[in-house]
Amino acid sequence: MQTSFTEAQLADPEIAVANTILRSCVHCGFCTATCPTFVTLGDELDSPRGRIYLIKDMLENNRPAGDQEVLHIDRCLSCLSCMTTCPSGVNYMHLVDHARVHIENTYKRPLTDRLIRDSLARILPYPKRMRAALGLARLGKNVAFLLPGQSMLAKRLRAMLNLAPAKLPPAQSLGGTVHKAIGETKGRVALLAGCAQQAIAPSINTATISLLNRLGIEVIIPAAAGCCGALVHHMGRHDEALAAARRNVAAWSAENLDAIIINTSGCGTVVKDYGFLLCNDPMAAQAAEISAKAKDISEYLLKIYEPTAPAPGITVAYHAACSLQHGQQISAPPKLLLRKAGFTVVEPKDPHLCCGSAGTYNIMQPDIAASLRRRKLDTLKAKAPDVIAAGNIGCLTQLAGDGIPTVHMVELLDWMAGGNKPAALSSHHARESGNLIG
Ligand code: SF4
Ligand code: SF4
Repeated sequence: MQTSFTEAQLADPEIAVANTILRSCVHCGFCTATCPTFVTLGDELDSPRGRIYLIKDMLENNRPAGDQEVLHIDRCLSCLSCMTTCPSGVNYMHLVDHARVHIENTYKRPLTDRLIRDSLARILPYPKRMRAALGLARLGKNVAFLLPGQSMLAKRLRAMLNLAPAKLPPAQSLGGTVHKAIGETKGRVALLAGCAQQAIAPSINTATISLLNRLGIEVIIPAAAGCCGALVHHMGRHDEALAAARRNVAAWSAENLDAIIINTSGCGTVVKDYGFLLCNDPMAAQAAEISAKAKDISEYLLKIYEPTAPAPGITVAYHAACSLQHGQQISAPPKLLLRKAGFTVVEPKDPHLCCGSAGTYNIMQPDIAASLRRRKLDTLKAKAPDVIAAGNIGCLTQLAGDGIPTVHMVELLDWMAGGNKPAALSSHHARESGNLIG
């Protein structure tokens, strides 16, 4: 694709990067067929190629974002399915991230949008605030139907309330803790504990630590490490995202670590990109080192996992989180591990399509998210699974509540290696006596 940035524009390193990305697109359109928003809405402007044109026009003309750019770029899930499909290696992720920062800096959103986005940015990255908000949302959930009308505001508020779990799990506070290996110590890693994950499903971190410890790996969670910054990064809040990245790079660099383990793949994609995010920062070298050490839990377990329990006779529908399959290009390891643990693994039709979770997308774009959720659940349930497993808390929350228990794959692996049975399976069994999950 030809571009026409001026020399002065190209002196800005971020515009120079955008220019290189834009020039690599040959507008072949292969990416449209695998883009969930194009598949759902059928509008070229809701396809990767359409968005690339919108971004090019906005940046080249150095003009503030307008309603049209905001509408179609906000509708992008950042699922990165287009990047897996693209034969020209277009780095759509860096381009859309840049566009989101441009929108944030140049576009004034309606007041209600600003209030909701601000609240999400101030609550979700902080586990204690998130827990308090979930407590309130649980109360509000019972009266969600009273929210008037079909306005976008009402739909967003209902979507927020509906994310609250029926029961709040016990609070988890892992910052500053060290979990020694059982037996001979074979490795030492830091775990990114996640923000929403600690509030919604602390059992995922518990299972991760328990499994790693039993495999001889010491796990630390430095007190100074916190939110990875993904949430604010995807909102275009660049400075907040950089601050989160710098804080984590400093905290992890101060430790002698073999790896940084991430069990929330949405966070993993961003941590693996810290090297790029901070490439013009004094911490650039450290950030690149941390990105190289970042590993999804499935990547790390691949060489060391050994089950100890007999095969449980359970069929697992594996849902590939976009951030794992497209963002990190990790497809086979979770399925190999689940099979090694003795599960029968099935996959839905169109596994490349997003479930509609995508960070705060299911709140901000409730209609598209609901449509993608329904599609994903129908294709998963068509395989008659006993349980749905994924490697990302956002997907698990999005797919919960439709009659099939949802668990993180690491909870299943831990169970088959001598850990506790995932509570979601036990409680499902209690509700559905006769189910083979016993
Ligand atoms: S597949 Fe790649 S090169 Fe083709 S239009 Fe999409 S982004 Fe551009
Ligand atoms: S990131 Fe996903 S939703 Fe956005 S353009 Fe690419 S395929 Fe479409």
